[in-house]
Order: sequence, then structure tokens, then C-alpha cells
Amino acid sequence: MKVAFIGLGVMGYPMAGHLKNAGLDVCVYNRTEAKASQWCVEHGGNSAPTPREAAENCDIVFTCVGNDDDVRQVIFGDDAAFAGMKPGAILVDHTTASASLARELDAAAREQGFSFLDAPVSGGQAGAENAALTVMIGGDQSTYDAANPAMDAYSKFTKLLGPAGSGQLAKMVNQVCIAGVVQGLAEGLNFAKNAGLDGEALIETISKGAAGSWQMENRYATMLADEYEFGFAVDWMRKDLGIAIEEARNNGSELPVAQLVDSFYEDIQKMGGGRWDTSSLLARLVRK
Ligand code: NAP
Repeated sequence: MKVAFIGLGVMGYPMAGHLKNAGLDVCVYNRTEAKASQWCVEHGGNSAPTPREAAENCDIVFTCVGNDDDVRQVIFGDDAAFAGMKPGAILVDHTTASASLARELDAAAREQGFSFLDAPVSGGQAGAENAALTVMIGGDQSTYDAANPAMDAYSKFTKLLGPAGSGQLAKMVNQVCIAGVVQGLAEGLNFAKNAGLDGEALIETISKGAAGSWQMENRYATMLADEYEFGFAVDWMRKDLGIAIEEARNNGSELPVAQLVDSFYEDIQKMGGGRWDTSSLLARLVRK
């Protein structure tokens, strides 16, 4: 199987590597060419100077870029992926983007004889590096069946959740759920510090009960150490919560906690923490 991977960022770089390691014929494209060259040296695949050329003759084209506009730039246009894809090829977009973009891509793909899956991921940098991502997918069953064996290379779980846009809607729910949990953890740790409790002993105890969470398990130690220069960036979380808040307006959902936490992340951006991990909600409580 011949595939293209467009966008070798924190996530895309290792994901493309896993595809190569699984034995697929991989051609990569990255806007900043140096990263594509480095990837080729490391993994022995090919790179192309444009998304169009990367996509030529591929069975599947994967994208993992920043936001809706970035996806449009690598998909539509003379040098973009759709201009190079062959009839019957599949586009799998791993970018966290809006559900309306997914529907737009699905319609455009069908018009040109391609298939499309929106397939945002969860699991962060470590999940991408360790091939342990969770993939939330929108599209049709036959496209999912055709692309799933390749996605196996970097995921521990994939699921088709409904028609185009369903993957992005699921990712919005994922981010809404995370926002409240991280703020709760930040408040708890700040309270513990002010109350004079031993943070390590506290977490060892309460993580075994109903307060336990992925965030508690994976982030408490760095939060106690006031370390945030890693992980899932506040800037990305604000993009994701913005998409969810916009979608909630369309479907009549109330998101009071997610909106409040989004405003806290805005405070963190003002503190210079746009690239800090989302667990920096504690820094907002401690440092201000
Ligand atoms: P990143 O490290 O900032 O990488 C972004 C990639 O997209 C880079 O390769 C960048 O190219 C490329 N790109 C951005 N805009 C582009 C454009 N207009 N045209 C062409 N290429 C463009 O981001 P990331 O952390 O890998 O995240 C990628 C996506 O996955 C985002 O939607 C993010 O929300 C989502 N995600 C991230 C995580 C995480 O923990 N990092 C977890 C789950 C989901 P350059 O190298 O030239 O800048």
C-alpha cells in the first residue's frame, strides 16, 4: 500500500514513522522542508515538495496539521492533495478541526471520486510516539474498513462513530470532559498545598478512589513540580474549546464549565504560557 503523510509535527512525525515501520510505502510532505528531510533520514521513506506530489498514486493520504484553514491549504488548490490524488483514494484527516470542515471535505471528496474520514486523535505526543493513540472517526463503513489496517500502525483503539463530522464531534466531547477535570485537579492540588498536605502522599491515596483520572495519574507529579514546558499546548486547547463552544451554540448545549476554563486558558496565554501543557491551570492559581 502506498500512502502519503502531510504534516510532520509533534503528532504527525511519529505517526508517519509507524506507518513506515509497518511496511507501507510512505511519502511525506512538510511545509518546513527540513523536518521532511530529517524524517527521511530517520525512516528511509520519500518526501515530496508539495502535498500534490506526495498524494500522487497513493491509496491513502493522511493529514495532521493545525486548524481548519491549514487543512484547506494542504487539500484545496493547484499544489494541494486533491490535485494529485487518484480516483478511489482515501483522505484521512487527523487534524482536530470543526465538524463543518469535515462535512465540506467529505462532499468535495465525493465530487472528485475520493473517500474521506475525519479522524482526530487523543493520547498526546506520548500516544503518537508509542503507537497508542485513540482515533475517533466519522465516515462510511467501507472507507473505515479500507483505512483501518493502516491506522493500526499508530493506534490502540479506533472507532467509526457515524457519518462525516462524527469524529470531530467526539473529539469536542473529549476536550470538554478534559477541561473540567484538569481545572478540578488544579484546584485540588492548590488547596492541598495551602492546607499543608504532602502532595505525593495525598495523590497516592486519592488516586485509588473515585477522584482518580488520567490527568491525575499522568500530570500530578509535573504539576507539583511546577513544570509545564511539555505536553498538549494551551494554544491548541483554546482552539479545540473554541470549536466545541461554537458547535454547542449550533446544537443547543450549555458548556458553562468549558467556557470558564477556556477563559482561564486565556489568562495563561496572557502569562506567556500559550505553549505550556494544559495542566498549567495550576500555575494560574499559584503564580498570580
Ligand atoms: P505541531 O507540532 O504544531 O505541527 C503542526 C504541523 O502542521 C507541522 O508539520 C506544520 O508544518 C503543519 N502545518 C501547520 N499549518 C500548515 C499549513 N497551513 N500548511 C502546511 N502545513 C502546515 O502540531 P501537533 O501537536 O502535531 O498537532 C497537530 C494536530 O493534532 C492539531 O490539530 C492538534 O490540535 C492535534 N492534536 C495534538 C495533540 C498533541 O498532544 N500535540 C494531541 C491530539 C491532537 P511546519 O513544520 O512547517 O510548521
